[in-house]
Amino acid sequence: MHTGPFSCPPPSLHANKTLRRRQDSNRGDWPWFKEQTCILRTVISRGACYAASAVGYLTGRPGVCLVVSGPGLIHALGGMANANMNCWPLIVIGGSSDRNQEIMGAFQEFPQVEACRLYSKFSVRPSSLEAIPAVIEKAVRCSTYGRPGACYVDMPGDFVNLQVNKSSVKYVKCCLPPPVCTAEHSAVSVAASILAHSRQPLLIIGKGAAYSRAENSIRKLVDQCGLPFLPTPMGKGVVPDNHPNCVAAARSRALQHADVIILFGARLNWILHFGLPPRFRPDVKIIQVDICAEELGNNVRPAANLLGDINAVTEQLLEQLVLMEWKYPSYSEWWKGLREKMKINEETSQALAFKKSLPMNYYTVFHHVRELLPRDCILVSEGANTMDIGRTMLPNYYPRHRLDAGTFGAMGVGLGFAIAAAMVAKDQTPKRRVVCIEGDSAFGFSGMEVETICRYNLSVVIIVVNNNGIYSGLDADTWKEMLKSGEPTACAPPVCLLPNSHYEQIMSAFGGKGYFVKTPEELQNALKASLAEKQVSSLINIMINPQSDRKQQDFHWLTRSNM
Ligand code: ADP
Repeated sequence: MHTGPFSCPPPSLHANKTLRRRQDSNRGDWPWFKEQTCILRTVISRGACYAASAVGYLTGRPGVCLVVSGPGLIHALGGMANANMNCWPLIVIGGSSDRNQEIMGAFQEFPQVEACRLYSKFSVRPSSLEAIPAVIEKAVRCSTYGRPGACYVDMPGDFVNLQVNKSSVKYVKCCLPPPVCTAEHSAVSVAASILAHSRQPLLIIGKGAAYSRAENSIRKLVDQCGLPFLPTPMGKGVVPDNHPNCVAAARSRALQHADVIILFGARLNWILHFGLPPRFRPDVKIIQVDICAEELGNNVRPAANLLGDINAVTEQLLEQLVLMEWKYPSYSEWWKGLREKMKINEETSQALAFKKSLPMNYYTVFHHVRELLPRDCILVSEGANTMDIGRTMLPNYYPRHRLDAGTFGAMGVGLGFAIAAAMVAKDQTPKRRVVCIEGDSAFGFSGMEVETICRYNLSVVIIVVNNNGIYSGLDADTWKEMLKSGEPTACAPPVCLLPNSHYEQIMSAFGGKGYFVKTPEELQNALKASLAEKQVSSLINIMINPQSDRKQQDFHWLTRSNM
């Protein structure tokens, strides 16, 4: 568990310094990569890899994760897969056994380059020491150009002691920033015309839009054309959740009845129910905007393909729509229906949030958390109901301020992401708070990273919403009763965790502040104190009703019917 993986924030974290150095230097070498000043050592390589991938998403430059051979690399595979699935830039550098011991059963020998191929865009071992700069340049380029993703570079142990003549090393400069491509003009005209003829239009804003930093152009499009929009979980905040055109509270209705959808950087995968009935109209016209040509047409044949960078393509669309002087009428039946549905749904959530009974339910917890959260905090969230209900109850006002289980639905990402967010915030916006909201089960996947947080004096507020289990658990009395019928290994339901576990003590064990809370008042006091504390991290362990659940949904959360 304590073998030595390291993760380094990327060049972007030190962009100003790096740029200056590049300009000062006539040597043509690669200070952009080798002069890393900040190295984080996490407890396990999985956490390091998740952290490095989140740095990539937040900064647009690849985070770097350095791991030891064999098991170290294998633990990082989850992080690589997650980065690749999320389309986030990441570079993993793995030590590996000496080349002259290959196939002899060397210490931690494993076919690492081959293993990483499934989890990355590019996986390679440099052919020699001299080739390393060119390989690293290619890894940086591959991780950020086109659809971003993970890259792996293998470094055999014998490279460490090898010597080469410096003059034989071919230093290369860092690649140029990713080229910005625009869509075909004819396709933009087609898209604008389809939109202008729509009766029930909808914009879907995905995390690709957040990654491409398209917030200003998309905001302009929403305002100028009066269009309803729906963010995906990590697309939240590209346009603020409190914008009057946000129809997140009527998500199912909006998806089900929209006749034209512009898809900005979101795939029609399970998160968007594959774009198929019963969740979508069978005749829905999709205008798909994506940087990845192969993505266009997945599951639904688009009415228009806009291949290019979202920010650039949105500007193109805006130009065209301005020429057409088109605006969607705010008095339409579509708007009326969406507003009515939003009102009903918001009232149902509010009724649950205002419940006074103890133990609290999810909605009450998030209602009180929402009241106190700073608007610009970075929210990290994972868990089942904790993440899903939290997403609907906790607004995002800024882009790239939400990190969660993502496309891969990965649990265990939370604390690595929180570490990354705290590092990036410390470097770029020191006053910004990082709040990590975890289900108790999700916290268990990477809880020991609390030590990393405390070791690096990072200020993170961790909230564990504790229902004693996965989806649901048992209260302490029922648990005791159950034990009368036999051994826990034989009779405890597999979804149950130990009731009333004191997760907050993990934080106090490492010098942070821990709170065990059961009532709204205790929760408010603990959160106020935690947010007031700028130097020390805290963990608030909130006991909720183990049977607390989501409000009634129109559809099962994964649509399996009609497939
Ligand atoms: P979400 O989880 O929010 O639904 P996805 O991860 O499914 O979003 O989709 C993100 C999409 O954004 C990917 O298909 C990716 O190719 C695309 N993408 C990433 N960066 C850009 C960019 N700069 N311009 C256009 N598309 C992008």
